[in-house]
Amino acid sequence: MSEWQPVIGLEIHVQLKTRTKMFCRCENVRGEEPNTRTCPVCLAHPGALPVLNGQAVEWAILLGQALGCAIAKRSLFHRKNYFYPDLPKGYQISQYDQPICGEGRFVVPRENDQLEVGIVRVHLEEDAAKTVHVGGTAGRIQGAETSLVDFNRGGTPLVEIVTAPDLHNADDARLFLQLLRQTVVELGISDAEMEKGSLRCDANVSVRKLGEEGFRTKTELKNMNSFMFVARGIEAEVERQIGVYEGGGAVEQETLHFDPQSGKISSLRSKEEAHDYRYFPEPDLVAVEPDAAMIDAQASQLPEQPATRLRRLETTFGLSFYDAQVLNGSPAMVALFEAIVEAGVDAKASANVLQNQFSAAGVDPTAVDAGELAKVIEARETLPRETFTTALAHSGDADFAAAPYLEDAAVSDTAELGPLVDAILEANPDLVNAFRAGIEGLLGFFVGQVMKETQGKADPRVVNELVREKLSG
Ligand code: ADP
Ligand code: ZN
Ligand code: MG
Repeated sequence: MSEWQPVIGLEIHVQLKTRTKMFCRCENVRGEEPNTRTCPVCLAHPGALPVLNGQAVEWAILLGQALGCAIAKRSLFHRKNYFYPDLPKGYQISQYDQPICGEGRFVVPRENDQLEVGIVRVHLEEDAAKTVHVGGTAGRIQGAETSLVDFNRGGTPLVEIVTAPDLHNADDARLFLQLLRQTVVELGISDAEMEKGSLRCDANVSVRKLGEEGFRTKTELKNMNSFMFVARGIEAEVERQIGVYEGGGAVEQETLHFDPQSGKISSLRSKEEAHDYRYFPEPDLVAVEPDAAMIDAQASQLPEQPATRLRRLETTFGLSFYDAQVLNGSPAMVALFEAIVEAGVDAKASANVLQNQFSAAGVDPTAVDAGELAKVIEARETLPRETFTTALAHSGDADFAAAPYLEDAAVSDTAELGPLVDAILEANPDLVNAFRAGIEGLLGFFVGQVMKETQGKADPRVVNELVREKLSG
């Protein structure tokens, strides 16, 4: 099996969370009563005209820049024609040969290297309405007797991101997709939730012999709705194709469905059934021609990329790839981490506490006074475990201060403990002699006396060392 190389390219749809839809002023929301967010434009009443959503254009440009894409000087909308009840116009307004963003490159950090994925294009389009098949068992689609259409989703702004066939295993495809999702979410342009359909991924898959020139026939796995299913679907399809070739057969170009329940792959349509969309330019919309000022405005709003931030956590703070990756999951957590380190706490220790005890406490990192939390983390080795956990749990409170918790800190200051140890040794000359004569078990007695004197606040490790030192001196 090892001589086969999988070849994978992804097509990802992301719903933009603009206030209104792509070509009309209907509210762009999910979860409302069906067919209550519609108008003549998104229901395709005769004579209704589309008006382009400027925010969607700006966000596509923003995303394009995050993916290192060239932004087109001139971009066109096309009609993509097909007939289905989820498409009242009989065509989807999409982009064809002049997308808003051209080629780019997206870098995905891995532990010892990086994955570079070519971006072929990013284009804008509108989502279709949502069909739901209900009732019965003998109907044509999923056995259902009736199909219902909810036009609230129809006309939702979408960006489609198409990658080059640069991915060579299911894990890399998942890594890429996860980082892409994080990027989109941090840009603030989509919730990008796979389970809710606001991020949807199709995977194009083929295999070839290692070292072989060119690509073989690909199949397309449609609409997998979790990162895990994407990875498992690709694995199953790669295995199927290898089986076909090794059995002397040929892979057919087709569109497939992966059923995560059974792990089975079934055909949705073959090459012969493929649509001819008869693309032609949308006559009701003008070309999009973003000028330099518009492109620069988006560039200036680009936040630090998750991939860049991850590498910075490794190089600037010396964190391991694993630690950096966990922290990097949340920009707010990274900001808190940086502030704590800035306040003088060791980076590795800060990362540790943040991703373990602090995360477990469920405190909002943006609510925390980093300086106060830094004091608590700094004292972590001298605080009783319970005090430490309680302090972390309250670190997001408006009036949080470290001082009251630090009062529980163990006394480890030798200048303070030294005289105390001396006094106890002086008060027990017989026992000191006995110890020196070889009764080493008496060490515990002296340590115990110091602990008693300090009401348990002394750091027993420090006391132990001090007593030992003074008795041997
Ligand atoms: P189509 O003409 O079928 O739409 P494209 O060339 O536009 O194909 O590519 C669509 C997607 O399929 C892209 O993500 C691309 O990377 C991927 N792809 C193209 N050829 C292959 C192949 N042989 N194996 C795997 N993926 C491929
Ligand atoms: Zn509308
Ligand atoms: Mg194509």
